[in-house]
Amino acid sequence: LRIAALTERAAGETRVCVTPETVKKFTNLGAIVAVESGAGHAASIADADYAAAGAVLGDAASVVAGADIVLGVQGPDVGLLSGAKPGVWVAAGLDPFGQRGRIDAYAAAGVEALAMEFMPRITRAQSMDILSSQSNLAGYKAVIDAAGVYGRAFPMMMTAAGTISAAKAFIMGVGVAGLQAIATARRLGAQVSATDVRSATKEQIQSLGAKPIFVENVAGIEGEGAGGYATEMSPEYQAAQAELVSSHIAKQDIVITTALIPGRAAPRLISDAQIATMKPGSVIFDLAVAQGGNVEGSVPDQIVDRHGVKIIGYSNTPAHLPADASALFARNLYNFLSAFWDKEQGKPVLDEEIGNAIRLTQGGQVVNPRLL
Ligand code: NAD
Repeated sequence: LRIAALTERAAGETRVCVTPETVKKFTNLGAIVAVESGAGHAASIADADYAAAGAVLGDAASVVAGADIVLGVQGPDVGLLSGAKPGVWVAAGLDPFGQRGRIDAYAAAGVEALAMEFMPRITRAQSMDILSSQSNLAGYKAVIDAAGVYGRAFPMMMTAAGTISAAKAFIMGVGVAGLQAIATARRLGAQVSATDVRSATKEQIQSLGAKPIFVENVAGIEGEGAGGYATEMSPEYQAAQAELVSSHIAKQDIVITTALIPGRAAPRLISDAQIATMKPGSVIFDLAVAQGGNVEGSVPDQIVDRHGVKIIGYSNTPAHLPADASALFARNLYNFLSAFWDKEQGKPVLDEEIGNAIRLTQGGQVVNPRLL
């Protein structure tokens, strides 16, 4: 079985889908791993390290030639796959809702596309979950970068020249990224509060030593839908949330927004009028900027100044931590393929629960119900 790993071609993508560690592990399973020369460069992994781990190096065409499985951080263009075996698997973060054209092209080319972000949120798949591994790093990085731009310190400091007060940080959306943002802001010494539409997060916020800020007494609200994800909220809830946020946000120095709803534009959480009530020098990091943004006026990959408040948003925050993000992403892919490895056939064979959840295309058709 031949596994191919290509250099990522998307602008700003620094990650790589295999590391020397996972090359060695795949090799131990009996696979040949072919890696495109330079694939690890932006993640500080040299070709020589891949070769020492047992990888075959070459250009894109030679790496893909005869491949049974092509791995990626993002999906490769279908043109790169022409030398692969018929029915080749492509396992990567395929952005199924954002890159529909590419998914259709995979179907037409007979590729079996596996979207790693559709991995079900079940216990046995946790180690295969790219959304969790990458969101965790993104939540950390958002706080670090907000602290870098903030013209003051995070912790309270009592000095001979007088006292500096602690920064107030507010985390909006307490999924995987938000929980790590709370923990990171706390470690830096900020006073942290947080909010979410899922009431289950209240306890998690408290257990991290932060203060929950929640909309109460709005009828019929439970913001948790399928798979533990958020649902879109009613207009009454949205109005109550906006009011609560308005009064709270004016007192905050740092705001990190992480709210996403799968398959939809990110919910708008902060308006320009609310930004105008914040103190000059405050910083907002919009982790949802690539999905349309939680914050009015945020621009992908720019730091925007609105009313003296700096708004940061990277379209691909994990790519700002290339080495760690690659290490975890590569392990997710290895954990996935190795969990289904059939020793007799010398290749992975997926079960129904996970296979049907992540398979987008098969036999020339788009087959995933979420895309039909
Ligand atoms: P996400 O990235 O989809 O969204 C981030 C957070 O924003 C979520 O907590 C969501 O509730 C919140 N949000 C959405 N709309 C909002 C709004 N209008 N206002 C405020 N907050 C809003 O979430 P995620 O990090 O992928 O986590 C989703 C769920 O999956 C969580 O319950 C998480 O604990 C769970 N999870 C389970 C597993 C597993 O068991 N394998 C793995 C990872 C995550």
